[in-house]
Amino acid sequence: MIIVTRSQVTDTEHQQVVELLQQLAGGQRPISAITMQGRRVITIDGNSLDAQTHAALSQHRAVERIVSTNMPYQLVSRAFQSEDSRVVVGDLPGSRSVTIGGAAPVIIAGPCAVESREQLLEIARAVKDAGAQVLRGGAFKPRTSPYQFQGLGIEGLQFLAEAREETGLPVITEVMEPDMVEVVSQYADILQIGSRNMQNFPLLQAVGNSAARRPVMLKRGLAATIDEWLLAAEYIVAAGNPNVILCERGIRSFDSHTRNLLDLTCVPLLHELTHLPVIVDPSHATGRRELVPTMSRAAIAAGAHGLILETHTDPDRALCDGRQSITPAQLQITVRETRLVAQIMSDSAVLSFVA
Ligand code: PEP
Ligand code: MN
Repeated sequence: MIIVTRSQVTDTEHQQVVELLQQLAGGQRPISAITMQGRRVITIDGNSLDAQTHAALSQHRAVERIVSTNMPYQLVSRAFQSEDSRVVVGDLPGSRSVTIGGAAPVIIAGPCAVESREQLLEIARAVKDAGAQVLRGGAFKPRTSPYQFQGLGIEGLQFLAEAREETGLPVITEVMEPDMVEVVSQYADILQIGSRNMQNFPLLQAVGNSAARRPVMLKRGLAATIDEWLLAAEYIVAAGNPNVILCERGIRSFDSHTRNLLDLTCVPLLHELTHLPVIVDPSHATGRRELVPTMSRAAIAAGAHGLILETHTDPDRALCDGRQSITPAQLQITVRETRLVAQIMSDSAVLSFVA
C-alpha cells in the first residue's frame, strides 16, 4: 500500500499522515517514507486497509492518492507509476548525459575488467568510435575462484575516471560491498550490482540511501525469479533511490552449450509489471561471442532499452571473460544493426497505430 502526499506538504502534515496510519492500521508501521518527484511517498507492508482507515487517510488534506498494487513489490510497479521511468546518467564532471529508458536503445560497452590504464583507454576510444554511449569496466571483480584476477580496485576506478574525461562517456562499474558505495560513487556514473549480489540486502540499502544516489544497474541473480528481482529493486527505491535499471544477464540452466539461458521473455513481461528501464547483457547470458550479435538484435526486438556488451581489443588475451567479448569492429556492426531494429520497431508501432 502506497500513500502519496501532495507536493508542498509540510513536515507536520507528513507526520500527521504517518501517525494516522500507525493509529488506524493497528500499529502498522510505515516501512518506508521517501521523497519522489517532490512528493512524500509512504509505503507500508500489505495491500489492504480497512474501509475506515482508507476513508480517514483519503480525507486528510495532505494525501493526494492511495495506491494498492496487489503485488509484493510496490514502488517499482506499473500500478504505482504507469509511465516509463527514464534514468538520466552521467552527472560527474566531464561526462555526457545519457538517458536510459527512452525509445533509442543505449549501448554500454567495454571490457569485463579494467586491466591497465593503456588497455582501458584504448578500448574506451574504440567503443566510443563504434557508437557506444556508456563505458563499462570492472574494477572490483567478483570471481568464482580466489586465484582468478580480482580487479585493480581503486586504481581501476581512477583509470575509468580518466577514460570518462578523455571520451566524455559516462562509466559503469560494479560495487560489491556497502562500505565501498560512497567511494565508488566518486568515480562511477552508474553503480552495477552484480548477479551474485542481487540479494545482498545491506548493499541494496546502501546504494539506495547513499549521499550520492548514483543510478544503479541491478543485474538479475543467477537463479532469481522475476518477483525476487523486482523486490531487490524495491529495496533500492524504498531506501530513497528511484534511479534503477534492470539488467537481464541470463539464468542458470541445465544445458552447458551456453553459459546461461537468456530469458528474453522477461523483457516484455517486465514492461507489464514495472516502469523501470530494462537492458540486456547477451555477453554473460550466452558466454560465446559469436552468439552476441544475434541475441543483441533479438533483445532490442523484444523491447530492451539497451544492451551491455563486453568488448575487448584483444579478447583472446583478456584477463576476464574473453570468450564472450566482442571486438570493437563487431561492436560497430552490432550498434548499427540494433539501431535498425529499433527503427523498424518504432515504425511498426506507428503502422499498427495507423491500422
Ligand atoms: C560482469 O558484468 O562482468 C559480471 C560479473 O556480471 P554478472 O554479475 O552478471 O555475472
Ligand atoms: Mn564479465
